[in-house]
Amino acid sequence: MSDLSAYIHVPFCRRKCNYCDFYSAPPINGAVSSYAQALCEQIRTSDAAGRRLKTVYFGGGTPSLLSERDFSSVAEALRETFDLSSCEEFTVECNPESVTSELIRTWRFCGVNRVSMGVQTFHDSHLNTLGRLHTAADAEVAYRMLRQGGFENISLDLMAALPQQTEDELRDDLERILTLFPEHISVYLLKIEENSPFGRQGVAEADDEVQRDFYLLTHRMLTAGGYEHYEISNFARPGYRARHNSVYWAGGEYLAFGPGASGFYEGVRYRIPADTPLFCRQKGKVSPVVEEVVDREEARREAVFLGLRCVEGIDRRLIDDCKMPFVRMLCSKGLGVLTENRFSLTAEGFLVSDSIMSELMPDR
Ligand code: SF4
Repeated sequence: MSDLSAYIHVPFCRRKCNYCDFYSAPPINGAVSSYAQALCEQIRTSDAAGRRLKTVYFGGGTPSLLSERDFSSVAEALRETFDLSSCEEFTVECNPESVTSELIRTWRFCGVNRVSMGVQTFHDSHLNTLGRLHTAADAEVAYRMLRQGGFENISLDLMAALPQQTEDELRDDLERILTLFPEHISVYLLKIEENSPFGRQGVAEADDEVQRDFYLLTHRMLTAGGYEHYEISNFARPGYRARHNSVYWAGGEYLAFGPGASGFYEGVRYRIPADTPLFCRQKGKVSPVVEEVVDREEARREAVFLGLRCVEGIDRRLIDDCKMPFVRMLCSKGLGVLTENRFSLTAEGFLVSDSIMSELMPDR
């Protein structure tokens, strides 16, 4: 039987960040505990009970808003329902302001071996613009607490091309993250989502040239600092690529738990309805929404657009012969690399990957 992963969505945030359109709501009046109980029920009644889990990922939202007791109950439900004996990576996302030493102890006790923390920037004025609840100092304190608490695999998120951000400020952010030297770094260029507060306020994205300069500066500084740029937005020290996300990019299977979570299981892409009150009322027994049945054709298309996100690229047999002149043109412009067996994108190519992917997508 193939490996399986699990994604658990924690749909609570104390306040909405201005750039965010993920599903989350404020944690009011016992909502988190009733969600945790419903989540345990959903896990215990999973069709895949008994299967071995290779990776587990608590994302959100803000998983660090789950109390020690609630987190322990959910971890216990996972352990009783699935085989976690060979789980390679168990990640919890967190925000700096909600990290406590009690939570760190609980996570470690429950088998969490990786933490992913949203730092975004080390400039308080930009954190304020983004609507984040923490300061740069909070992020550094939380990072040190995680280290002192025993975490040896920490990922930090940064954002770039923020409103009014200068290149020097980004350089400073990158220097400060390199000083912390986490095992993994994700860097996202700010995208304005229509349904985010920024989208509704009409905030504009940085222009293409700024995005390009900031992206390539990030690539240069982090690779010079010992990180492998192994996926469009992700950098890792040797041996520390994100295993859970790598399952997504390799087209692997993962179960979805919690309102708003997405999964891929037995050839079907599905999501759990993003309705926390309904999820709690029905004690986690909500019908998943089928988004797509992935047949051979679709799997081939996914292999192209997921594979091109990663530095290994794709098997060149996935590229139709009629598209080879386009591929050769990309290589001549330094956007791609073609070897005997594979085609992959360079950092410059990653920047324009959306248009390259749509051009190379096999015809239906
Ligand atoms: S960015 Fe993260 S912390 Fe901020 S609102 Fe979105 S999910 Fe919550």
